Amino acid sequence: NVSVVLFTSDLRLHDHPPLRAANDAREVVPLFVRDTAVDAAGFAAPNRLAFLADCLRDLDAGLRERGGRLVLRSGDLVDEVCKVVAEADADEVHMAADVSAFAHRREHRLRQALEADGRRLHLHDTVTTAVAPGAVTPAGSDHFAVFTPYFRQWSAQPLREAFGAPRSVRVPDGVGSERLPSRDALSGLSEGLAEGGETVARKRVTAWLRAGVQAYEDRHDDLPGDATSRFSPHLHFGTLSPVELVHRARKVGGPGADAFVRQLAWRDFHRQVLAARQDAATADYRTKHDRWRSERTASADIEAWKEGRTGYPVVDAAMRQLRYEGWMHNRGRLLTASFLTKTLYVDWRVGARHFLDLLVDGDVANNQLNWQWMAGTGTDSRPNRVLNPVTQAKRYDPDGVYVRRWIPELAGLSGPSVHEPWKLRGLDRAAIDAYPDPIVDLPEGLARFKRARGRD
Ligand code: FAD
Repeated sequence: NVSVVLFTSDLRLHDHPPLRAANDAREVVPLFVRDTAVDAAGFAAPNRLAFLADCLRDLDAGLRERGGRLVLRSGDLVDEVCKVVAEADADEVHMAADVSAFAHRREHRLRQALEADGRRLHLHDTVTTAVAPGAVTPAGSDHFAVFTPYFRQWSAQPLREAFGAPRSVRVPDGVGSERLPSRDALSGLSEGLAEGGETVARKRVTAWLRAGVQAYEDRHDDLPGDATSRFSPHLHFGTLSPVELVHRARKVGGPGADAFVRQLAWRDFHRQVLAARQDAATADYRTKHDRWRSERTASADIEAWKEGRTGYPVVDAAMRQLRYEGWMHNRGRLLTASFLTKTLYVDWRVGARHFLDLLVDGDVANNQLNWQWMAGTGTDSRPNRVLNPVTQAKRYDPDGVYVRRWIPELAGLSGPSVHEPWKLRGLDRAAIDAYPDPIVDLPEGLARFKRARGRD
């Protein structure tokens, strides 16, 4: 008896329901398919490919320690799985359920192809979420559109137990693999890109739960303090299990751990929205807005935003962090998204696309729905809030440390004066002439926003 375990965004050995189900007294082919359709859809950004390469190497190493190995193929996912099934004479395939429209179509095609040949596909829930999409629903709807009641039910949901990695994995002979990719072969990577793989992910968790999570409630918005977990790429690639994380954080307990678990619920929340409304990846979810400035008219502003040259230091610092690390602090994501969609009045899809080009944690559910939230087309109950970049900067970077870290042109300025360089005069102003003037006047941006939303 042979099973194929198809890894997708669950690149780990600990707490892995498909592997656990398949590994039970059977031989297993641990398989990853580099799906050419993902590349064709433009989703294969260099930063994520590099992180993926780390994850696959680490997964292979973990399997080898247990007597197995990873089989890698590339091509059409359904074709490649079917080929491996035939080569190994496997009778079943186990994989994690996923939420996007693309993933659903792929699962459907795979199921049909396998069943036509007398084989079975087993989909497993709670591999990439703590609570499965659709497991909790409000009366009269297939999903929650508001987070607070979702979170109440999510918190009351019993979690399955988390389990360890298998002791051994037996892989049948005769199934060939391509060579594993390496990040060294890739170009265009962010210089400060994090390392991928379950081994580093698990070390991070241990360190975070020992020292870090306790201060999370107070410090998660602190831009210079950088006091969040940075688990997002690991959750995206599944080197960490959400179920296991929730269990371990709850065991630590306290306000920090509670606040952290709440953020994990936000992740599940967006996934259950996308699972039920798959067009929300591209279409306005709740409120339709179609008076965005055209990309052509706004092209200079969009470029300045992408390059971190808007003249608003905190916006520029966050955009430069994104380019340098392939990651951005959540507060930075909020205020740069507000700036693009509300102050510059540019369609959220333009910003979401740029984020997906660079973010190592770039994730259709989290990225698109957070963009919609900030743009006022999504699930935010205050869709017309506009984040003022100067107020935000003074609140979340009071001494200007974060701005000076990312904007060398402003490194010579002291204290919070760094947030409003346009107010400087004389020699002070001359010293920073490499830094641009603001590309937009905030009151004018606000007036344009109100006109477009019919609120003046
Ligand atoms: P922590 O604060 O330590 O939180 C722990 C985990 O909770 C995160 O790793 C993440 O999985 C989850 N989480 C935290 N905040 C959110 C949130 N608002 N929504 C959903 N899940 C959350 N997150 C992504 O994983 N991928 C994206 O592509 C992405 N795009 C975003 C785009 C915008 C415009 C905004 C405003 C937010 C986006 N987020 C995205 C959510 C959030 O900013 C990141 O998850 C978070 O900054 C990652 O850092 P962390 O792991 O240190 O988070």
